[in-house]
Amino acid sequence: MRIDIATLFPDMCEAVLCESIIGRAREAGILEIHCHNIRDYTLDKHRRVDDTPYGGGMGMVMQADPIFRCFEAVCVQLSQRPHVIYLSPQGRVLTQQLAVAYSRQDCLFLLCGHYEGVDERVLEEIVDEEVSIGDYVLTGGELPALVFVDTVGRLCEGVLADESCFTEESHFNGLLEYPQYSRPAVWHEKEVPEVLLSGHHANIVRWRREQSLLRTRNKRPDLLEKAPLEEKERVFLQNTDREE
Ligand code: SAM
Repeated sequence: MRIDIATLFPDMCEAVLCESIIGRAREAGILEIHCHNIRDYTLDKHRRVDDTPYGGGMGMVMQADPIFRCFEAVCVQLSQRPHVIYLSPQGRVLTQQLAVAYSRQDCLFLLCGHYEGVDERVLEEIVDEEVSIGDYVLTGGELPALVFVDTVGRLCEGVLADESCFTEESHFNGLLEYPQYSRPAVWHEKEVPEVLLSGHHANIVRWRREQSLLRTRNKRPDLLEKAPLEEKERVFLQNTDREE
């Protein structure tokens, strides 16, 4: 997968995207990520990319032309038009299900706004959809773009060791993940649940599923309403105390 990020702060994006799992996937050639400085595409001799809003008001607006020229330059490099996403608090909120769908795209172009936002006309001209990372407002689209790349990138084939790294995780199947433990077996007088030390695979799978159901009910009961549960799992929840 190739992701192009158009931003006024490419160093901020690079600093994060060269680290850890995403950084290793880039080194291995599994993910190709390019951060473009929108300022490099302005024709203004002072390298300005923003101006005051028509109609008055506070703040500055990112101008259409440098963004459009950046997008065109990326299109020339690619043999296809990328799917264009504007990170915006007005967009559809990112979920694990959407991330799975984006991870199947070949090319994504992410546009990061700043200041008061972006001239509407370039959004109309190049953007396919707007994506939000939550119902709150950040100063710029860089952190949302990094959240997006991290969430989507780790779902691409070959980035994690095995699919089960994410198929068993919270939100993949509509539930929260079971609790995790590691060495030592006793810490601060707290013991690891016995079943996890038993080596009995089927019992461990059952225990984890039950824990997943219970903690979803306790922490995020709203998710349970939509989760695809078997009838026997609904009965299990009905018969189990809420405190467990
Ligand atoms: N004036 C805009 C509004 O009220 O909708 C908000 C502009 S915000 C201060 C600047 C930029 O940050 C936006 O253009 C967008 O790219 C990014 N941004 C802020 N909050 C975001 C969120 N929740 N999700 C995705 N991007 C966000």
